[in-house]
Amino acid sequence: MTLKLRCDDYGFECKFILDGEKTVGTIEKLRNHFEEEHGIDYTIEAVTQMITNRGHSLESIRK
Ligand SMILES: [Zn+2]
Repeated sequence: MTLKLRCDDYGFECKFILDGEKTVGTIEKLRNHFEEEHGIDYTIEAVTQMITNRGHSLESIRK
C-alpha cells in the first residue's frame, strides 16, 4: 500500500508531495519536512493523527 501526502493538504502553501510506502518511515519524512521547511516540530503521533484526519486509513501501517 502506498500513501500520497501533499503538504498543502496540511495547511501550508507548499508544493511538496510525498509518495511512499505506508510505513512509519514515510510519516517520519513528512514530519521532518514540516520541521525543516516550516519550522514546526510535530510529534510522529500528531502527524499520524493529521494524516488519518485527512481520510487515510493507517491501521494496517507497517512498523
Ligand atoms: Zn511543505
